[in-house]
Formats: sequence, C-alpha cells, structure tokens
Amino acid sequence: MPIYEYWCSHCQRKVMLYLPTFSQSSPPCPQCGNNTLQRLFSTFSMHKTDKNIYDDILSDSQLTKGMLSNDPRALAEWNKRMSRGEEVAPEYKEAIDKMERGEMPAKPASEDSGTSAEEAD
Ligand SMILES: [Zn+2]
Repeated sequence: MPIYEYWCSHCQRKVMLYLPTFSQSSPPCPQCGNNTLQRLFSTFSMHKTDKNIYDDILSDSQLTKGMLSNDPRALAEWNKRMSRGEEVAPEYKEAIDKMERGEMPAKPASEDSGTSAEEAD
C-alpha cells in the first residue's frame, strides 16, 4: 500500500495517508478536514531519528514557506535533508536535480523502487 505524505498548512504538521491510488486532487486533511494538504515525497523511509530532521526542517520557516508554495527548490532541499547524504534511486536523483533547477518533475518518482532501504535493518 503506497504511503503518501502531505503537509497540512492548517495544522502546520505532516500527515501520512495510505491511498490505493494517487489522485491529482489532494484529499482533505484527516486531522482538521480542510483541503489544505500539500503533497510531499515519501521515498525516504521514516526512522525514529527522522523526527529530529523534521523538527529541523519545520523550524526553517523559509523552507516550509517554499514547500507550501510548491517551490521545487524547497522540495529538493527537503528531500536532500531527508536523505542525509544516503544514496537515492537514480531516477529520484534526476527529479531532485530538476527541482534544484527550479523545475517540477513531471510526476513523482516511482514509489516502487527505492523502498529497499526501508527494510534494511
Ligand atoms: Zn489539517
């Protein structure tokens, strides 16, 4: 089951949704019910220590502001921080490179590849 991560600008928090399919229109926030969800990438698996990274990212108002306005560079920065220098799938790297140039990738990188690290430990 694919996990989709969203940022709720109303709750000011990240929410994770399990959706059978990804539709272009964001579902309402499960916490507050508002249509204020922004899609985030979910390639990088969550570990307990990731909370610190999230806290760090979310305390960076410039970055979160960029994410809220769908700034591809902010998304690239987010992914860079989440990956912590770990190897990412080549096709994902491509998407990040694109975002760093200020372009939105045509579609999110495949969720199927790049999940191998999830079960590594
Ligand atoms: Zn909400």
